[in-house]
Amino acid sequence: MPSRPDQLIRPEILALSAYHVPPAKGMVKLDAMENPYSLPAPLREEIAQLAADAPINRYPDPNAASLKAALREALAIPDGMEIMLGNGSDEIIQIIALAFARPGAALMSVEPAFVMFRMIATFTGMRYAGVPLNPDFSLDVDAVLAAIARHQPAVIFIAYPNNPTGNLFDAAGISRIIDAAPGVVVVDEAYHAFADASFMSTLAKYPNLLLMRTLSKSGLAGLRLGLLAGRPEWLIQLEKLRLPYNVGITTQLITEKVLQHGDVLLQQAAAIKIERAVMSERLAALNGIEVFPTDANFILFRVNRGNSAAQVFQRLKARGILIKNLDGSHPLLKNCLRVTVGTPSENTQFLEALQASFNHQNH
Ligand SMILES: *Cc1c(COP(=O)(O)O)cnc(C)c1O
Repeated sequence: MPSRPDQLIRPEILALSAYHVPPAKGMVKLDAMENPYSLPAPLREEIAQLAADAPINRYPDPNAASLKAALREALAIPDGMEIMLGNGSDEIIQIIALAFARPGAALMSVEPAFVMFRMIATFTGMRYAGVPLNPDFSLDVDAVLAAIARHQPAVIFIAYPNNPTGNLFDAAGISRIIDAAPGVVVVDEAYHAFADASFMSTLAKYPNLLLMRTLSKSGLAGLRLGLLAGRPEWLIQLEKLRLPYNVGITTQLITEKVLQHGDVLLQQAAAIKIERAVMSERLAALNGIEVFPTDANFILFRVNRGNSAAQVFQRLKARGILIKNLDGSHPLLKNCLRVTVGTPSENTQFLEALQASFNHQNH
């Protein structure tokens, strides 16, 4: 008799629930931090031609040399720093965890933070240590330093700006953490396009700092491209775990083409930042809502006065608007929801549906 899955699969995997992506067909999709804008038609024509001519019968360049050179330039990677590409930055998180997963090694992050940090710690058999943020979602530096002394983490992940809270942590606090860490600190700048701060220029200063970026949030989520920058001594080791051909030829060609028109994504990010300010203000003007400051392309808010996040989420969904309900995911996120900044028209639809969901409550 063959064994059942529960006799062979690791118990911590059996205990996981899979990362849930809700169906969104026909919905106003404001749940996943995507850029709502498409590329200009002439650029799409150029991409169509590139795709038509791409030798998809051949394996792609395993080193993506041409794309890497373009990224070095576009992202201002400091001289002397190496870069590694991933199938999204999710894959890079996994490569890092695989490399550092010595028996008993710990992966640390703050909470609430990006859920994949914890999930990937589990995938790779690392001990996970999460340090709660302050109730205003600022970094509790003393608590992190105490947890570092206790757990001696091999890797610490810090998202800057943080997801799902949207704020930038205090940079001096992060520097103290990097100085105190016995292992590497990965600063995850997934939302860099919408923030005016980065650790990129300090990369060479710290022997244990790695910096991660992705093109997903700034407009190329469907292509799956993430990047890690850091000192060659770390990157040479991590490269050994990168599966050959992890970045496909269409991703290589199209990303490089879009980077040649770098102003397009910059202009879209600028439009999203303007809309973010408008939306934050309109949200804050609604009764019974607490809006948190954001440096990302999404807004975290809390409902109160008799509304529950679950009800608001369901009522929006019934009106064809999909956002993210965070209630229940962490005690600090009680009655919190997260909405991605969409087009002006999508944002207005969201705000009207939100207001209507409150009126509904009063009847
Ligand atoms: C979205 C996100 C990622 C993952 O992005 P990819 O699409 O896998 O590149 C990584 N970190 C944070 C903080 C994110 O919010």
